[in-house]
Amino acid sequence: MGKVIAIANQKGGVGKTTTAVNLSACLANEGKRVLLIDIDPQGNTTSGVGVDKGDIDECIYNVLVEDTPSAQVILPTATEGLSILPSTIQLAGAEIELVPTISREVRLKKAIDQVADDYDYIVIDCPPSLGLLTINSLTAADSVLIPVQCEYYALEGLSQLLNTVRLVQKHLNQNLAIEGVLLTMLDARTNLGIQVIEEVKKYFREKVFRTIIPRNVRLGEAPSHGEPIITYDPRSKGAEVYTELAKEVVSNG
Ligand code: ADP
Ligand code: MG
Repeated sequence: MGKVIAIANQKGGVGKTTTAVNLSACLANEGKRVLLIDIDPQGNTTSGVGVDKGDIDECIYNVLVEDTPSAQVILPTATEGLSILPSTIQLAGAEIELVPTISREVRLKKAIDQVADDYDYIVIDCPPSLGLLTINSLTAADSVLIPVQCEYYALEGLSQLLNTVRLVQKHLNQNLAIEGVLLTMLDARTNLGIQVIEEVKKYFREKVFRTIIPRNVRLGEAPSHGEPIITYDPRSKGAEVYTELAKEVVSNG
């Protein structure tokens, strides 16, 4: 059974998708078999690994709402060892369509259980909300990785997220752990970045990853080329730090 890691934060633009794509690719580069699950209707993870959303017949929507077998929807990517369960804008309706259905919170878990033995890691890129899609992700996950942008109000909204994690632990998935808090988009030239690091470490202590992701132009460019950073620019700082993060995740066990 692969380890399932949900990348979650209801704030948009904190680095969830960048982390999902690049952590997954770096885990694959370490020789792990990785499934990346895009559960954000924006589908940025899907295009980020080079899959053209226009070419997809069925996506995670069909799996969640119509019980299409996961294996039928999973696609290989250009990165060896990395597969994707893609998303399209069709998923935007799922949040509402799932509301009246039976076992609506465990749909993703059931979909993952079908294929979990084929992978070492299953990484889920969550949408920027705490709705049913994120609840499905936390219910299916062994752990949650929380990206936090090194900006003003970095901690804002995190108590809501942690409260949701506690509710899921209580009612749906008592094994859900915190994988770690990942500081992202650090601008090392500013004092603000340093202050945010201290503040987040005071709050989350040993739960903060040693690896900190700096702002890196190449990381911002890679998605428009449909490539993870390790192939887009293997010598970049971005490739170095996400490789470090993958090793830290592996050593977490
Ligand atoms: P989220 O999925 O949380 O909304 P994204 O990963 O899409 O966040 O990141 C938001 C934007 O910031 C994207 O345009 C992305 O390319 C860019 N970005 C993310 N991380 C970095 C980074 N470390 N350095 C530079 N740009 C980044
Ligand atoms: Mg995203």
